[in-house]
Amino acid sequence: MPFIITDPCIGTKDSACVDVCPVDCIHPRKDEPEFATAAMLYIHPDECIDCGACVPACPVSAIYDSAEATPATQKGLIEANRIYRVGDADAVAQAEGLVQAHVDGHAELMAMTPSDRAAAHGK
Ligand code: SF4
Ligand code: SF4
Repeated sequence: MPFIITDPCIGTKDSACVDVCPVDCIHPRKDEPEFATAAMLYIHPDECIDCGACVPACPVSAIYDSAEATPATQKGLIEANRIYRVGDADAVAQAEGLVQAHVDGHAELMAMTPSDRAAAHGK
């Protein structure tokens, strides 16, 4: 199963994971036009090789190692990771729409700092 980026990335988006990913499957990168407006970054599920390098690199613990391990409050973002594609405006809009729905539906999480959000995932 591919790795999944979740909501602590929203408001962080520092690209630390991009820098360590050996297969360049996390997008948008800072040099891609979608980066400026992206709410968060996404892992391409077909390209991720499950190496795990991105998990300790993330300063806010946003990345889970499978859909199964992704907490219940974050399940909606699995689909966002699945459909996001740089260069495909429709896919980008769909994924960002799912993220916006997540933000709208989890005001309690979004009121926290990204790090506190990650700590609250399992509660
Ligand atoms: S698990 Fe490895 S291949 Fe997959 S997104 Fe993370 S760094 Fe990239
Ligand atoms: S390292 Fe974490 S917060 Fe930074 S861009 Fe990657 S997933 Fe988002």
